[in-house]
Amino acid sequence: KSESSQLHVFFFPLMAHGHTIPMIDIAKLFAARGTKCTIITTPLNVVHFEDNIDRDKKSGLDIGIEIIPFPCVEAGLPEGCESLNCIPSPDMILPFVNALERFREPFERLIEMHCPDCVVADMFLPWTTDAAKKYGIPRLVFHGTSTFSLCVVENMLRYTPQVNVTSDSEVFVLSNFPGQIEFKKSQLRKRDGNTQSAFIELRRKMSETELTSFGIVINSFYELEPVYAEYYRKDLGRSKTWYIGPVSLSNRNVIDKAHRGKKATIDEHHCLNWLDSKKPKSVLYVSFGSISRFNTAQLVEIAMGLESSNVSFIWVIRMENIKSEDQFLPEGFNERLEGKGLIIKDWAPQVLILDHPAIGGFMTHCGWNSTLEGISAGLPLITWPLFAEQFNNEKLVTQVLKTGITAGNEVWSPWIEPEKVLVTKDMVEEVVTQLMGTGEEAEHLRSRARDLGETAKKAVEEDGTSYNDLTSLIEQLRVYSA
Ligand code: UDP
Repeated sequence: KSESSQLHVFFFPLMAHGHTIPMIDIAKLFAARGTKCTIITTPLNVVHFEDNIDRDKKSGLDIGIEIIPFPCVEAGLPEGCESLNCIPSPDMILPFVNALERFREPFERLIEMHCPDCVVADMFLPWTTDAAKKYGIPRLVFHGTSTFSLCVVENMLRYTPQVNVTSDSEVFVLSNFPGQIEFKKSQLRKRDGNTQSAFIELRRKMSETELTSFGIVINSFYELEPVYAEYYRKDLGRSKTWYIGPVSLSNRNVIDKAHRGKKATIDEHHCLNWLDSKKPKSVLYVSFGSISRFNTAQLVEIAMGLESSNVSFIWVIRMENIKSEDQFLPEGFNERLEGKGLIIKDWAPQVLILDHPAIGGFMTHCGWNSTLEGISAGLPLITWPLFAEQFNNEKLVTQVLKTGITAGNEVWSPWIEPEKVLVTKDMVEEVVTQLMGTGEEAEHLRSRARDLGETAKKAVEEDGTSYNDLTSLIEQLRVYSA
């Protein structure tokens, strides 16, 4: 490519909000630097962001969408199950992941049609490295999690941890791992033998393609986890990594922030007016991401704990498994908490809320996007990881960054915990009062979180570390495609 010709990059996210949202943000960042961007998705996923992309196009970004069909029936999935977010049970995860290999043929046809210069594809699409190679173009891997978590997973693959700890103490540390990080045996995945080996095999495949791909794009910023960034590069051999986050900061106006992922189920202006009426740093935002669902017994405990904490809150509740709020709200809750608590059913304009000055803390399941969005907003966190890499992210927050306190840390399956309660109302009340209170420890958490928020913003500003990493990545792609 000549200096003047435009770089064209394909973005191929996994079909799940937590993966698609940051990938679209990355595409926007590339487009803002003059790159032509094409996002590949499927019919039922595109509805969540086509308006958003249309607005970007109107504002001059060269960004487009290509739609390929999702082979649900061929892969043994229910009709219309085009996203990890709508999988009915955990035994459908593997068929879902296997279905992704069926995208290879339409993906290659798109490459032939558009002749892009590069492909940025999700970790769950390891075969894209080979497919891209066939056409002589580089593939970049996007994981969508913290470097810390990537390091934990890769470390465990290499040096299977010895967890023969005594029953008194479930805590163990990893060998050859920086920092004295405490892991809990009960948080390691428990799967049946066959499923476990299928997942390990998949993880190995991902790990191999990391090394044969052009490199890895990370939604984080170097200053957040420098020790692990170096460990990942040097000790784990991932020498080509680019830190370009927090990518959520690429959304600058109200509409973009409000309609990230799905259209919010509350009017964003109503939400902002509500927050405007509150004192600075007085409101807790409570949300557990796009997948996790609590049973009614656990929801009752959260409701009562929030009420007795006496702290103002916005609480987002996924309603797929709930018929009506009467099932979990204590009698008279809405009347008593009128003006004090705002419940959002289904989808909140999360980044918009977190960025509001009235928000003083975030109770989160530690999905990486939420964690990083909280960090970017300079907020201390109440961590309540539920499954998968969320436990790693929570360790980063509580043990490395020290900007959060823990509410609960036992595994919760988003699908199969009918009556279980992990965190009682008293525990909810205790952590909320502690985080939002005036105690010395809370002040420390707040001050560290505020500093990190400032550093995050600087990282993406002109000449910041993430800004410069993106510049250097684009330059290297130019050289490669020349
Ligand atoms: N999100 C949102 N509104 C909601 C719930 C989630 O905007 O009501 C966004 C959130 O800002 C984040 C993403 O959805 O960007 C969730 O990703 P995360 O990694 O936090 O968790 P996951 O949903 O993958 O468990």
